[in-house]
Amino acid sequence: MPELPEVETIKRDLEKAILGKKITEACVHNPKVIREPGVAAFKKGLEGAAIKEILRKAKVLILELSNGKSLVVHLKMTGQLVYPGSGKQSRVVFHLSDGKTLDFNDQRLFGELRLLDDWRSLKFIQGLGPEPADLTWQQFRAILHKKKTAIKPLLMDQTFISGIGNIYASEILFRAKIRPERRANELRDKEKRLLFKAINDILNAAILHAGSSVDDYVRVSGKKGGYVKYHRVYDRQGKPCLVCKTKIKKISQGGRGTYFCSKCQK
Ligand SMILES: [Zn+2]
Repeated sequence: MPELPEVETIKRDLEKAILGKKITEACVHNPKVIREPGVAAFKKGLEGAAIKEILRKAKVLILELSNGKSLVVHLKMTGQLVYPGSGKQSRVVFHLSDGKTLDFNDQRLFGELRLLDDWRSLKFIQGLGPEPADLTWQQFRAILHKKKTAIKPLLMDQTFISGIGNIYASEILFRAKIRPERRANELRDKEKRLLFKAINDILNAAILHAGSSVDDYVRVSGKKGGYVKYHRVYDRQGKPCLVCKTKIKKISQGGRGTYFCSKCQK
C-alpha cells in the first residue's frame, strides 16, 4: 500500500499536472470505489469545479475544489492516479478542462473516493496521529514511554503517528538498529533518539526518490518511484545484510511480514 512518501510524491506530481484545472466530467465505470455520496451526486458535485489545492494527510489525498467541496482519495492496496490517462481499465475517469483525463485505476477495488463538504469531519482523518514531521521529540518520547506494545506495529499505528506502513517501519527500525519485536517502553533513551531521527531521515530520503514501487504504486506519470534500490531489509529475506552480510530474517507481526537483520538490530 502506498505510504507517506508515495502519497506525498503523488501529491507533488498532481500539483504540477492538474492544479487550477477544471473537472468537466467524471465518468464512473465502477461505482464500488465511490464511498460517498451516491454516484449521481458525486458526478454532479465535481462537474465544473476547479482543483484549487491539493493536500495530503497521512496516506490520504485531498483535492480541494473551487465549489467548496473536496475530493478525498484513499488509494489503499492498488489505487493509482494517472495523468494524462488512457481510460483503459480505469474505475473513474476525470475529464479535465485541458482535454486530458486523470484516471483512477484500482485493480483490486479497495480504493475509496469521497466527495465531501468538509474533509476535516471524516472520522478517519480525526483519528490520525501527528504527521512525522510535526511530532516533537518530547511527544514521541512520552508516547513510547507509555506503550508496552512491540515497536514495529506501533510505528504503523496511524493513531500514534500517521503515514508509516509496512515498508518504512522495517526500514526505519533497521536504520535505528532496533529489533522490531522490542517493546516501546523498554527502549533506552539513546535508542528512542535514534528512532526519532530515523523516521524523518528515511521518509525524507524516500520522498526524494519518489517512493517505493512495490506492488502497484506508480507516480502520476505512470513511472515507477526509485526508492526500492535503497531498501536495506524490506522484502530482502534470505539475502545478505548490506552492512554485516548476515542473512535478513522475515517474521510475522500482527499478520504483516517484518524484515530485519538479527546482528545489526538489537
Ligand atoms: Zn546486518
